[in-house]
Amino acid sequence: MAKVFAILGDIHANVDALAAVLEDCRANGVTDFVCVGDVVGYNACPSECIRIVRDELHAPVVRGNHDHYVSTDSPLSDFTELAAEVVKWTRRQLSAEEIEWLRGLPYSKLHMGFTVVHSTLDMPEHWGYIFDNLTAEASFAYQKTGICFYGHSHVPMVHQKSAAGIVRLEPGEIPVPIGSRFLINVGSVGQPRDGDPRASYAIYDTKARVVKFRRLEYDVEAAMGRVRAAGLPERLAQRLAVGR
Ligand code: ZN
Repeated sequence: MAKVFAILGDIHANVDALAAVLEDCRANGVTDFVCVGDVVGYNACPSECIRIVRDELHAPVVRGNHDHYVSTDSPLSDFTELAAEVVKWTRRQLSAEEIEWLRGLPYSKLHMGFTVVHSTLDMPEHWGYIFDNLTAEASFAYQKTGICFYGHSHVPMVHQKSAAGIVRLEPGEIPVPIGSRFLINVGSVGQPRDGDPRASYAIYDTKARVVKFRRLEYDVEAAMGRVRAAGLPERLAQRLAVGR
């Protein structure tokens, strides 16, 4: 059955960005939602974002590194001081039941013929980054479906693998014919880092076989205000304005 998926990633507790994205989804005929992880962390509304993703969108979700560290006692030595501070803050905001839900998220998932992971398929629990053909190749080696959607770097990116090798494509409107292989980073809803502060996500139309990247303006000031009101570090508010 034909479906129009919205692939959302790195929402990071930014409810203002999420609201703008969901409005755009409605305008674009989205029928189903999938989340590549990091529902929480960095911004001020972790509970609200969990509620929307889980209870309203009924999205299958994979575990992001922030979801992982917020819901386990793993030492925060891999985190920057800034990120670690938010992890601790987020732990205090969530109910035991919400923490339990985060802890139950799988590292990767096969869903309706495609794959979803937060970081890489070769070592999803090590939170590595895909940023070039070499790191893409390592993940492709474990990819059993035509398309894998992921996140983690907060930078939209597309790699295509064919017999000729791996090429990088500009994130725009990507035809994804049957038999071809793609590794697609959908960018970040709640904390873009490619210098463009607009919320990022992708729409996958299974009938047209097209993946379309979307960028949305949202009320950045409101999100910054919430970060400040929560007493989170000022740098977390500032970076939303510049998309870094
Ligand atoms: Zn993230």
